[in-house]
Amino acid sequence: MAQSGNVAAGVDNTFRKKFDREEYLQRAREREDKEAQGKAKSKSRGPIVQRKPLKHRDYEVDLESRLGKTQVVTPIAPLSQQAGYFCSVCECVVKDSANYLDHINGKKHQRALGMSMRAERATLEQVQQRFEVLKKRKDTEGFSETDFDERILKQQQEEEERKRLKKEKKKEKKKEKTAEEEPEIDPDIAAMMGFGGFGSSKK
Ligand SMILES: [Zn+2]
Repeated sequence: MAQSGNVAAGVDNTFRKKFDREEYLQRAREREDKEAQGKAKSKSRGPIVQRKPLKHRDYEVDLESRLGKTQVVTPIAPLSQQAGYFCSVCECVVKDSANYLDHINGKKHQRALGMSMRAERATLEQVQQRFEVLKKRKDTEGFSETDFDERILKQQQEEEERKRLKKEKKKEKKKEKTAEEEPEIDPDIAAMMGFGGFGSSKK
């Protein structure tokens, strides 16, 4: 103990940092400059490209195809097989449908698709054309109340058919299960093994 004290003797370990106002001000200025430069850089990152205006989707968003299904999820599985919604454009997984919709409507995703978030301002001509298209569609489809009823009816029938198939599947599964649980025992083999059925125990 005394020795270690001796080693330290003669060494000036009383140094303390002294607050040098000028020095720290200078450092702060330098840091601010650096940050400002960094910001400017990140803003003009990459070549400036004119991204296309926002376009409406030409596909249906599938939110329900995996609804009610069971899936084994392992952390080492590829992203597309993880729990949640996978965006193949951005190669990311979002946890639920609401967030998935937010994602595919969001800035990052649209940018990856080469679109800016700006919607094109439609001209009068475009609006008129659109009206024409919709009018024509209405004429050819002849959308009316009877059609509406028919469509509802069709949907109901489809729904019932789906339910019926589901029930049948369930029944089949149950059958298979009971068959597995109660294998038929050949009476001869049972007798050979010494248990001639539970009802007729020999004495
Ligand atoms: Zn995306």
